[in-house]
Amino acid sequence: RNIGGIHNNLQVGAAAGQRLQAIFDEPTETMDAGRVTAATLHESIEFDHVFFRYDTSLDWVLRDISLTIRRHERVALVGRSGSGKSTLANLIPRFYDIQRGRILWDGVPLADLTLRSLRAMVSTVSQDVFLFNETVRYNITYGLDSVTEERLLDVLARAQAQFVFDLPLGVETIIGERGLALSGGQRQRLAIARALLRNAPILIFDEATSALDTESERLIQHALDELFRERTVIIIAHRLSSIRFADRVVLLDAGKISAIGSHDELLATSPLYANLMAHIEQERSGA
Ligand code: ATP
Ligand code: MG
Repeated sequence: RNIGGIHNNLQVGAAAGQRLQAIFDEPTETMDAGRVTAATLHESIEFDHVFFRYDTSLDWVLRDISLTIRRHERVALVGRSGSGKSTLANLIPRFYDIQRGRILWDGVPLADLTLRSLRAMVSTVSQDVFLFNETVRYNITYGLDSVTEERLLDVLARAQAQFVFDLPLGVETIIGERGLALSGGQRQRLAIARALLRNAPILIFDEATSALDTESERLIQHALDELFRERTVIIIAHRLSSIRFADRVVLLDAGKISAIGSHDELLATSPLYANLMAHIEQERSGA
């Protein structure tokens, strides 16, 4: 029986080893490869007949996407769950590379920009904000050097995250997995504070799908108004207020662009869009 047990352990170990090896075998991202460094966006980000899939064994997740996002434009991505909104946004900081077509940053293919400069220009506030099991200060300032106390307090205030000052140890309070649990709205406002601090010219805001209470919504709206000022914004929108606020709405359906236009135009011309909006309205009145 003991030998049987040892055999089991070996099997489990071997399987784990294989998974680890696959991670070690991943090519390393080199932050400074690429011939061009850029500091800002002057004109546009252009998707030119872009196709993308997560794996060659899987189906296309994005098909034939052509879209130009101009400097300081606010573009809302709208579509059913799984239509490819987050995937499309994640292609901009090159979290994934495309298989067909081109993405051009002021006319330069993304792959020619150094990852370091590209990622410094793009800030993402994601659907589910990840917090390290660390202090509030650390969670907002990691990776950024010499953030003054004044600047930190300023972004916390502008992000409507004053709740931090009521925590037992203020910005030194440990939060995250084993620390103090924060609400969805609170986590998001910390992410907004971090994005304000980074001050990148492009902002991707992947709005949370889970409903927030009215008070959180109102606070987040104020924080966002602050964050969206003077920036190129790609907002994956689940709330009517964010959709209305966009200059253009891009409707995705099963990985394809189904329509592009203003909220009112799409409402009048796209049955799919009208249907989605009716759902959003319903959820709101239900909440
Ligand atoms: P939601 O509104 O639910 O956030 P979404 O429009 O953002 O949806 P995506 O997350 O972009 O949708 O997913 C698009 C498709 O790609 C889905 O079919 C999804 O299952 C698939 N997908 C997403 N991430 C991965 C991944 N890491 N590996 C493989 N497939 C993925
Ligand atoms: Mg998503």
